[in-house]
Amino acid sequence: MRFADVVGHGRAIERLRRAAAADRLAAAYLLSGPPGIGKRLVADAFAARILCAAPVAGDACQACAHCTRVAAGTHPDLRTVERDAERRDIRIEQVRELARWLALQPLMAHRKVAIIDGAHCLSEPAQNALLKTLEEPPPSAVLLLTAAAAALLLPTVRSRCQAVRMDPLPPEAVARVLVARGAAPERAALLAAEAEGSPGRAVALSGDEEARARAA
Ligand SMILES: [Zn+2]
Repeated sequence: MRFADVVGHGRAIERLRRAAAADRLAAAYLLSGPPGIGKRLVADAFAARILCAAPVAGDACQACAHCTRVAAGTHPDLRTVERDAERRDIRIEQVRELARWLALQPLMAHRKVAIIDGAHCLSEPAQNALLKTLEEPPPSAVLLLTAAAAALLLPTVRSRCQAVRMDPLPPEAVARVLVARGAAPERAALLAAEAEGSPGRAVALSGDEEARARAA
């Protein structure tokens, strides 16, 4: 995933690009905004940019050894934690494991990047466990949290992350995402109007529609 592949979120992306270009990265970022607007995509693109050895135009090059590993999901300095499908929360064990991993030296890159996707699902004990890492972050570590709203996290956790607020997309941008996925422009416009600025929601709506059509 590259920033260039993300639809919308220009302001947030510009800020992250500049931080990466200047190598002035915060230890933790909190990307917050409604579900389905692209927070995870931006986090993935930022992680790729941070790990890439030869960035091109502010983006991961998609060709170096790091980018190849990131794309294959095998980069040793990148980890993603999310809620297990059968659970309602992200468990404290997952956070402890991540903290142990972050404390080790990077194996391949200069940095280690950890994405906590859906950080609002962190249980309170898990958030408190994370706090230890946020208070004394290992020098090479960059944590990228995504959450439906910053207010869903403990103030102590929130205050140690750089806030990156992301807004719903305009309907035209949502429609662009659907067209890129093969929807006819008229149908894309209709679905986008219903999607409240969330491409993820629009895609789900279009899936529902197709399922209904198949069932009929
Ligand atoms: Zn690269």
